[in-house]
Amino acid sequence: MNEGEVRFPIYLDHHATTPVDPRVVDAMVGAMRGLVGNPNSIEHSAGRLAARAIECARDEVALLVGCDAANIRFTASASDAIGKALALAISRAVVARPKVAATRVEHPSLLARLDELAGQGRIEIVWLDVDCRGQLAGTAVSHALSSGIDAFCLMMANNEVGTIYPVDAVLAACRAAGVSTIVDATQAAGRLDLHAVSAMCDFLIFSAHKIYGPKGIGALFTADPGPDVDRQFAYAGTPDVPAIVGMGKAARLAHDLRSAEQPAMERLRNRLQAGLQSAIDFLVINGDVDSRLSHSLHISIPGVPNEAMLSRVGHQVAISTGAACASGAQGASHVLRAMALPEALADCALRLSVGRFTTETEIDLAIGIIVREARAILQAREEKFAC
Ligand code: PLP
Repeated sequence: MNEGEVRFPIYLDHHATTPVDPRVVDAMVGAMRGLVGNPNSIEHSAGRLAARAIECARDEVALLVGCDAANIRFTASASDAIGKALALAISRAVVARPKVAATRVEHPSLLARLDELAGQGRIEIVWLDVDCRGQLAGTAVSHALSSGIDAFCLMMANNEVGTIYPVDAVLAACRAAGVSTIVDATQAAGRLDLHAVSAMCDFLIFSAHKIYGPKGIGALFTADPGPDVDRQFAYAGTPDVPAIVGMGKAARLAHDLRSAEQPAMERLRNRLQAGLQSAIDFLVINGDVDSRLSHSLHISIPGVPNEAMLSRVGHQVAISTGAACASGAQGASHVLRAMALPEALADCALRLSVGRFTTETEIDLAIGIIVREARAILQAREEKFAC
C-alpha cells in the first residue's frame, strides 16, 4: 500500500497475526494452480513436483533459522509444534516423570499442554517468575536449574508485552547442566536473529501467520531429528502444499528483509509511542522498554478502561487488550497477572504493534483516534462522577 493510502481499520495488532504478504499470496496461488499432485505420490511427476515444492519451502525456513533442512518439520501451527516438542522432550527424558521448567508468561497453548501433562502425572512443572517488566526474575533460572529440572521452556519474545528474553544465556546454562530446551520463537522469527538460538536449543517453534504467511501452518526445528521425530510426524496426513509454499516464501522474505525492516519498524513504533505520550502525559508503557520487540508497544492509559476504548475505536483501529486467545475474557491476562501489574493499569492495558505495511500516515491517524477517544472517555467519567 502507498504512503497516504489508508485502509480501515488501521491494523496495529501484528502480535495477533500479520496480513499475508502479497508475494506470499502469489506463491500460494501459483502452488494451488500449478501443483496438482499429492506430495506423497512420488510415482509420477505431478506428485514429485509437489514434493519438490515442500523441499524448497523447507530450505527457505532452514535459511531463516540457520540450520539444515533436515532439522525442519512442518506442523499445523505453532501450538501443534509446541505439543510435539513437549512430547519429544518428555519421551527423551531419562526419568519417568521429568521436571519441566517454564515461565508463567508462556503462550496459553504451552501452558495448557503443561497443565494437561502435569494432570496426567507425566511431568512436574517448575514455574519461573517474571518481574514487573515481564522479564525473567533475577535468580529464576539458577533456581530452576538447581532444583534438578530435565527440560526448560522459554519464549524468545512475549506475545503480549513484547519483552525479549535472554535466551542465549539461558540456553548456555541449560546446555552446561544437560537440560533439554524448548524455545518458542513464534513472535521472534523475522524480528530477531535465530542462528545462535538454533545452534544451542533442542526444539524451536514457529508459526507462518506471524511472519506475513498463511494461518494454520507452523514449523518445528529439532536439533536431533532422530527416529522418534519421524514417529511423532508419522500420521500427519497429506501435507497442505500451498500453505507450506506460503510459509517458505514468508520465511524467505523474513530472512531477506529483517535487517532493513526492523529499524523501520522501530521508527514507526517510536512515532506511535511519542505521539501518544505527548498527548497523554500520564500514559504508562508496560513491559521491558530496554529489551522489547521493535514493533511492539504495550500501554495503559489510567482512567480509560480498555473495554471502553476498544468498543469506541474497534472499527477504526485494530488494537487489542492482550493475547488474541485471551481477549474478550474478563480480567487481566495471565501475562499481566504474572507481572503483578496493578489492577488500575491492567484494566486499561492496550497492546499495539506495527507491521511491514504500516505507514506514517496510519500511525498519525491512529494516534489522533486513540487520543480523541481517550479524552472522550475521561470526560464522560468526570461528568458521571460530578453528578
Ligand atoms: N506462541 C506464541 C508466542 C504466540 O504468540 C502464538 C500465537 O499467538 C502461538 C505460540 C500459537 O501460534 P499458532 O496460532 O500458530 O498456534
